[in-house]
Amino acid sequence: MNKSIQTLIDRLEQNHALTEAEYAALITGRTEEAAAYLAEKARHARRRVYGDQVYIRGLIEVSNICRNDCLYCGIRRSNTNCARYRLTAEQILSCCRSGYALGFRTFVLQGGEMDTHMVDAVCRVVRAIKAEFPDCAVTLSLGEYPAEAYQAMFDAGADRYLLRHETADRAHYQSLHPASMSFDNRMRCLRDLKATGYQVGCGFMVGSPGQTAQTLAKDLKFVETFAPAMCGIGPFIPHRDTPFRDKPAGSVELTLYLLSILRLIRPTLLLPATTALGTLRPDGREQGMLAGANVVMPNLSPPDAREKYTLYNGKLHSGAESAQQVAELKQRMSAIGMRVVTDRGDAAAG
Ligand code: SAH
Repeated sequence: MNKSIQTLIDRLEQNHALTEAEYAALITGRTEEAAAYLAEKARHARRRVYGDQVYIRGLIEVSNICRNDCLYCGIRRSNTNCARYRLTAEQILSCCRSGYALGFRTFVLQGGEMDTHMVDAVCRVVRAIKAEFPDCAVTLSLGEYPAEAYQAMFDAGADRYLLRHETADRAHYQSLHPASMSFDNRMRCLRDLKATGYQVGCGFMVGSPGQTAQTLAKDLKFVETFAPAMCGIGPFIPHRDTPFRDKPAGSVELTLYLLSILRLIRPTLLLPATTALGTLRPDGREQGMLAGANVVMPNLSPPDAREKYTLYNGKLHSGAESAQQVAELKQRMSAIGMRVVTDRGDAAAG
C-alpha cells in the first residue's frame, strides 16, 4: 500500500481528525488494499465501543407529501407521477405495535416536508407512541422547521432527529436544491436541533451529481467538528422522474470506504448501513457492517406506503413481512459475527 495513505489512516486512527486536504488525499488515494486496511481499523474501533451489537431501528415512512423540490429526490413536489399518501396516527401506532413485538425499541418517523401546521399532529403521534412504549426512542426525520417546531416535537417526547446536511459545500448544496432552499437554513436547523437537546444525525449521499473529493473532504470535516450522534450515508441512486434521471449512481466501494473513515473520525458514531446500500448490492448491509457500520433500519411501513415512498428507483421494499425480514437480518448479521439486539441503541458516551 502507498506509504503516505497508510500514514494518513494510522494518524486518523490516533487523532480522529485530519485536515481537509488530507481527507481529500485519503479519498483520491483509495485502493482495495487501503480500503481493507481502513475497514479493519474501523471494525476494531466499533468493537471497542459497541462490541458485536447491531442496533435496529424500525423505519416508518409516514408520508410522501413534500413541499420541497430537491433535484435528486423522487418524492419532490414537482413529480406529478408520485401517488401521494399520509399515514394516519392509528396506522403509525399499528406499525409501532408490530415493530415492538419484533424487538424494535426505536421508531423512526420519516417523511416529506410538511407545512408547519402539521407539527401539532406530529406532536400528538409522538406523545401517543411514548405513552404506549415508554421504553422506546422516537426519531424524527421530517426535514426543515423553525426552532419552535423542533422544540415542540422535542417536548412531545421525540428523542432524536435525522437531517442529512446533504453536502457541506455551499455551491454544491445549491446545485442539488431549488433556489427556495438554502445551505444556511440547513445548517441553522442542525444547530437548532442540537441546541434543543436532540441526539442529532446528519449525513450525505455518496456520488451525488457534482460531488468531488474536495466536497467530500468538507463533509468529513463537518462530521468531525459538528460531532453528531449519528451519520447516515448511502449512494445516490437516480430516479426517473427527477432532473437527475440520467446521472450515474454513486459507488458502493466509495460508500464503504467513507463509512470506515467516519468510524475512525468518531468511534461512538451511530452509523447505519442504509437501504440505498442494500439496494445496489444484495449484501450491501453486511458489507456496510464489515466497513464499520453498527445500525440497520428495516422498514416497518405498511406495504403500499413502501411502494409509494420511492426516493429513488429500485428502492428495496420487498413484500416480505417485517417479521420475516428481522429473522433474515438476524441470521445475516450472525453470519458475519454480529448480533442484533433489542435495545434503544443510544450512542455510547464519549
Ligand atoms: N424530508 C426529509 C427526509 C428526506 S428522505 C428530510 O428532508 O430530511 C431521506 C434521505 O434520502 C435524504 O436526506 C437524502 O439524502 C436521501 N435521498 C433522497 N433522494 C435520494 C436518491 N435519489 N438517492 C439516494 N438517496 C436519496
